[in-house]
Formats: sequence, C-alpha cells, structure tokens
Amino acid sequence: MRNEYLLLTPGPLSTTESVRSAMLKDWCTWDDDYNKEIVEVIRSKLTKLATEQSGYTSVLMQGSGTASVEATIGSAMKSDDKLLVVDNGAYGARIAQIAEYLNIECCVVSPGETAQPSLDEIQDALINDKAITHVAIVHCETTTGMLNPIQDVISLAKSHDKIVILDAMSSFGGIPMDIGELGIDFMISSANKCIQGVPGFGFVIAKQTELEKCQGRAHSLSLDLYDQWHCMEANYGKWRFTSPTHTVRAFYQALLELELEGGITARHLRYTTNQKALVAGMKKLGFTPLLDESLHSPIITSFYSPTHSDYQFKEFYLHLKEQGFVIYPGKVSNADCFRIGNIGDVNPDDIERLIIAIEKAMYWEMAA
Ligand SMILES: *Cc1c(COP(=O)(O)O)cnc(C)c1O
Repeated sequence: MRNEYLLLTPGPLSTTESVRSAMLKDWCTWDDDYNKEIVEVIRSKLTKLATEQSGYTSVLMQGSGTASVEATIGSAMKSDDKLLVVDNGAYGARIAQIAEYLNIECCVVSPGETAQPSLDEIQDALINDKAITHVAIVHCETTTGMLNPIQDVISLAKSHDKIVILDAMSSFGGIPMDIGELGIDFMISSANKCIQGVPGFGFVIAKQTELEKCQGRAHSLSLDLYDQWHCMEANYGKWRFTSPTHTVRAFYQALLELELEGGITARHLRYTTNQKALVAGMKKLGFTPLLDESLHSPIITSFYSPTHSDYQFKEFYLHLKEQGFVIYPGKVSNADCFRIGNIGDVNPDDIERLIIAIEKAMYWEMAA
C-alpha cells in the first residue's frame, strides 16, 4: 500500500513500503525467532550505532518516546538526587515536568526557545548548587529545530562529575555522534524518528555500570528501566510485558535499511541536503526561518507564518495535503510559525516538489 501523502513531520514520519510490509506477520514473544533473532539483534545494533566504546548496553521500552524519558529519569535518580534541566523548548520543559510528577528535585536553565543555553549559567548552577547530581539536555529541540551544543554542556557536566541524560529522540540515527566519547550516561530515542520505524516503543542506550545502579530505584513498575533491561539480558531479549511485536519487526527492517543507505553518515547527508534545499526554496518564496541558520539542525525547520491577512494555517495545511504533503504546526509560544521536517523516507526531489506545492498553496490562499 502506497502512502497518499508524505509526512513532513518529526515522527511519526514517512516510512518505506518495505518497513510497513514487515508488519504483516504475527510473532510469538516466547520464541527465539522473535527474541534472539529480532530483539537481541536490534539491541546490539543500537549499541553499536551509538558508540564504538565498550561498556554500553541498550534497553527497549514500550510506549511513545516520552515513556522512555520518564523511565530513565524515574530509574536513574534516587529520591534525594537533583536534576538540572536545560530547557529551550517543549521537550526540555517536558523533562522538568516529568521530574515534578516524580517528586524529584529539579532546577531549570532556560534561555528561551530561540537561544542556546549559556555555559556560564550552567557552570554557576553546578558550582552553587551542590545537590545537583544529574544533568539533562535535549539534542535537537524539535520545538524549533534547534541543535543544542551538547558537547560543551556535557563536558561541563562531566568536569563536575554529574550523570548526563541526553534526549536524542529526534536526532539519533540522523546525526553522527559517539555517546561514549561524549561521556553520555543515558541516551534516549524512539522507533519512529531517524531510524525511520513506526511508533510503539522507545529505547535507552546506557553506560552499563550506571544502569546497574538503577536496581530498585524506579518510581513505576512498568517504567522500571533496570528491570526491563535485566529481563532482556537474562532471557535473551524477552520483554517483561507484552511487546509491540509488529513495530519491533518493522524497526528491525528499518535498521537494515539504515545500513543499506550507508549508515548514519549517509543518512545525515541526505537530511542535511533536504534541509538546505528546503531553506533555500522557502527563502525564494519569501519565507523566513525562525532561527538563525547557525542554530539549525538537519531534522526540522521552523518558518514564520506569512503576515498576509488572508493567511490561515489550517487552509495552507489543507492545500498542501491535497498536493501530497503534510506539514507541522508551530510549537513556539511567542512566535507565529509552522514547521517542516526533513526526516523519514524523504529525498531532495521531494523537497523540490514541496516548494512548488507551497508556491501554489500560497497563490490559492491569497487569491481566495
Ligand atoms: C518526539 C520527541 C520526544 C518524544 O515524543 P513522544 O510523542 O512521546 O514520542 C521527546 N523529545 C524530543 C526531542 C522529541 O523530538
């Protein structure tokens, strides 16, 4: 079955027909052909994609990506630990909200949604507040498309001996990095972002010695990261509770297709080419990106909405959908904008067709 439109959204996103076809079979969660040959292979491939260093392991967790973030915060942190969160968008804010729900002490560095965090401010917080034990930051803040300076923030956190948690939900698989080299203790992502699978589970790649310390700490049974990992380790990839079998099988196919494409470096190049073509084309049509170009990620880009009095997002959106493209509303609180994603089974020629479709949609909108 072919898709009627291309999802230019940051997950769920457009997947290949072969990934979707991989879901047309049922699997028994007790059998080796599922646990050993699919789940365990996924776990080891993920760890290898994340780092060349040894001492890392991975664990898959049911639910949307947020469930894996919540499982990590709720399992990595003891009740008297304190979290410093860098918040420059909805996903940073969500980490702080998770801490609040879990009654974990938390302080927030928030430079606003269109700026990067100040290293001085983070350093001051780390020096002045000795209670801080963990630092969490989002890699690509999908709210705006901003790429955060994780290397600087992480080396600062590490120089103060903090545990580092990275939300790389929308970047892992699309932007090269080595989490071991960076010094990350817990990195979180999910099935339906840059690996180009379908939604249904998230995953955490962790320094094993840190994950082992999480035993007995979890604030939630179903989100106990240690117990989930321990079950998978002890039983060759067995999930504790019902696993999203079809999604997992599709994810396995998506990992093979990532390898076929040439790995993360090749995928990063495709996304970067998409994003550059998008910004150039949009600028020609008179649109302005929300962020300074030096802050852009190749993942998703925010544009200011047209100021023309006849412009309405909903109509613009529908005109584009009719032509085969689904874009994303804006999420920034203090600016009127919309977003266009570059990730998924999307190629530069799709972006060229998109620019023509946007020109038409704008014409229809203004002529109406
Ligand atoms: C998509 C995303 C999440 C998780 O969102 P879910 O809707 O729970 O899957 C978290 N952080 C970032 C940066 C994201 O892009």
